[in-house]
Amino acid sequence: MSDTTISVEEFRQEARAWMEANLQRRTSGSGHTRPETVEALVEQRALQRRLFDGGFAGISYPAEYGGRGLTVRHERAFNEEARRFVVPDLGVAGHVTMGPIGRSIVAHGSPEMKARHIPKILSGEELWCQFYSEPEAGSDLAGIRTRATRDGERWILTGSKIWSSGAHLADWAMCLARTDWSVPKHRGLTWFAVPTSAPGVTVRPIHQINGNAEFCEEFLDEVEVTDDDVIGEVNRGWAVTQTMLVYERGGGGAGGGRPEPRQLAPDLVALARRVGRTDDPAARQAIATAHIHDYAQYQLRRRMAARLRASDKPDAAIAAYSKLAAGVLTPVRARLGLEVGGPAALTWAKGDERGGRAALDYLNGRIVSIAAGTNEVQRNGIGERVLGLPREPSFDTNKPFDEVLRAARNWDSRAGAN
Ligand SMILES: Cc1cc2nc3c(=O)[nH]c(=O)nc-3n(C[C@H](O)[C@H](O)[C@H](O)COP(=O)(O)OP(=O)(O)OC[C@H]3O[C@@H](n4cnc5c(N)ncnc54)[C@H](O)[C@@H]3O)c2cc1C
Repeated sequence: MSDTTISVEEFRQEARAWMEANLQRRTSGSGHTRPETVEALVEQRALQRRLFDGGFAGISYPAEYGGRGLTVRHERAFNEEARRFVVPDLGVAGHVTMGPIGRSIVAHGSPEMKARHIPKILSGEELWCQFYSEPEAGSDLAGIRTRATRDGERWILTGSKIWSSGAHLADWAMCLARTDWSVPKHRGLTWFAVPTSAPGVTVRPIHQINGNAEFCEEFLDEVEVTDDDVIGEVNRGWAVTQTMLVYERGGGGAGGGRPEPRQLAPDLVALARRVGRTDDPAARQAIATAHIHDYAQYQLRRRMAARLRASDKPDAAIAAYSKLAAGVLTPVRARLGLEVGGPAALTWAKGDERGGRAALDYLNGRIVSIAAGTNEVQRNGIGERVLGLPREPSFDTNKPFDEVLRAARNWDSRAGAN
């Protein structure tokens, strides 16, 4: 049967049969720790390869680059079936590789670049990370200062990046650099594919208070790349950024492909059982609230994904709705976990991964309201670009970027008022 005609239900059955034959069933005891070392990833990469060889990696990626060329609905069906099986976990690097990075390369990379990287991405051979934030440019992403200078056939990259999730585990980075300083900040930007092992790249994990080192800072010291490594067009990197942000914010295929939360908040139900509160009205109320939030987010994501698919160009402001919902509701849900677990959720035996989940979710709950753009940035985007509200006053949007930096260096109250 041709893949272009396979129905979602037929595909679901094919996927289920393949999983029965090729994957282990998930059991209540199949606890799993996210891979945080290169060594821990070896097994997960092998499992990803098995998926790829079976035709179940990159279900909504183009078939000519190793994907299956199907729809997000097919992908969702696969994900729903896969909940009962042990599937690869390539950690945070895997998440960004298959999501924003792979999709941006498909949308903007040259045919040669796609042929070079996409099959390796889908088979788990290449893991990528994102080098966009800098110590002085986070929300103001267009204000980055990493420089790429042309030198004959080569580009030379110099600068520093920060908060790059999974960079210590990644083989490549998608790196944003400034290639023209004489134009306003949103122009003159270019994305490059940079091997993290290239001479001149230093990757340093940042150790967090919870003991994890999930993201890193990097220093780029005269790193050489070539025209072949340019993703999209030189100086038109902002167009690539829009695609990247749509997927980064959970839009497009990524958001629409997530399974329906059919079961009543399973993590909270398990927690209530563990602490003996399944009959407690307050705990039941908290579980019901969490389920309502899960469903509301699921429906919103689907609706936004459909709007994004119908649109002729990537619209990061539409994707901002789902991102904002996640940024607002994730901390609320994490708090509900603590309400269900009570004091018992605050202590757990060393090595008991599940025991600590509610407390760690609570501590990590704010991540989603910052990573991939803060709640305030999403609200600005929705307000200005979807609802048509007045734009924030800006002193630098239309000035050549080198002039903005010069003015900032010589800043006084008169320059600031310009
Ligand atoms: C878990 C995690 C993973 C991340 N992963 C990556 C990654 O893989 N690669 C990468 O490059 N970056 C990554 N980041 C960085 C992330 O994109 C930035 O943290 C984010 O964009 C915010 O930038 P900032 O931290 O510099 O905060 P700032 O931009 O300094 O913001 C500080 C505060 O000011 C507010 N603010 C700023 N501008 C405005 C405005 N115009 N209007 C209203 N309020 C405003 C913000 O909302 C925030 O509350 C990650 C961050 C986190 C937390």
